[in-house]
Amino acid sequence: MRFFGRQVRLWRSLILFAVTYGLAQLLVQWNAGPAARYAMLAAVATMLFFAMTITVIYGVRTFAKDLHGEMIFFALLIGGICVLNALKFMKIVDDGLDALHMDSRFQMTFYIYMSTLATIVPPSIVWLVLRRLTDNLRNMAAHDPMTDLLNRRGLLEALQLYFNARNTAPAYLLLMDIDHFKVINDTYGHQEGDEVICHVADLLRSAVRHGDLTARIGGEEFVAICFETDGEGVMRLAERLRASVESQATKVAGSGHLLHCTVSIGISSYFSGAHGQEDAFRQADSALYRAKAAGRNRIELTNISHSISAENTKLAIVNR
Ligand code: GH3
Ligand code: MG
Ligand code: MG
Repeated sequence: MRFFGRQVRLWRSLILFAVTYGLAQLLVQWNAGPAARYAMLAAVATMLFFAMTITVIYGVRTFAKDLHGEMIFFALLIGGICVLNALKFMKIVDDGLDALHMDSRFQMTFYIYMSTLATIVPPSIVWLVLRRLTDNLRNMAAHDPMTDLLNRRGLLEALQLYFNARNTAPAYLLLMDIDHFKVINDTYGHQEGDEVICHVADLLRSAVRHGDLTARIGGEEFVAICFETDGEGVMRLAERLRASVESQATKVAGSGHLLHCTVSIGISSYFSGAHGQEDAFRQADSALYRAKAAGRNRIELTNISHSISAENTKLAIVNR
């Protein structure tokens, strides 16, 4: 019962419309005869279907953006009824009730169009609603509700999709864990801990390139999969990320606390194809373990001899 976010008193509007239209029909019938009444019906139908067409077109740009093709299709179908009713109105005005003879070419076209629509539209709407529900469910199953990043299942599905399309394209896996997060939870409470997680998730999302994958796979553990880059590119990204978490504190809503934290990051060597991803997870996990053991707030890479700490990262990138 909401229309574009506004509460609508549907029954009151419908009853008011039906009563007004009924009275208008009686008046027109008595004063101007049946031809005028049919002309009025065609004119009202034209206006109603015009309003529906505009609503559907508005939907393409707002509330149904992800159903672009379907909404255009509906707009064309409903626009067709609008045009046919406008033509019918003009014909009745020109030729009177003769225009409504079933054997006239116009009426044949009108009824064929309307009966085709009556067949197509109801199953299409059912299909549309089911598709929308399925998409929502699939989306919910693949995403972490707190950060809206992919969850582990969503990440694996997205990787599979990517490698099905481009089996040989290499990728890097970045595993990131917030340092001493238990201390944040214990000092400020779980809720503020959650805000830190969301803040780090936002920094991760804005650090990666369009098309890369980002996921939250555990409490305060995140993954980024970087495509179409090289070792140097992924290292720059990791450093950008590490530095942005270190420098941009979380401003906690309500209390106004500024919470500082750091992250440690482990990077796999490059992998390609779905078969390589398990190794990549293992490699990134042991690189992350090394980063934690070496003091945290660091990046560790697989198959590259040196590790990078907060102090020497820039130098290391320049020297490579
Ligand atoms: P380390 O530097 O070794 O990573 O230390 P740590 O304290 O961060 O250790 P660890 O990664 O094992 O800590 C994870 C903690 O995250 C434990 C758990 O209580 C907390 N946690 C897990 N999920 C959530 C969550 O959804 N919200 C909050 N606030 N805390 C969570
Ligand atoms: Mg941690
Ligand atoms: Mg952890």
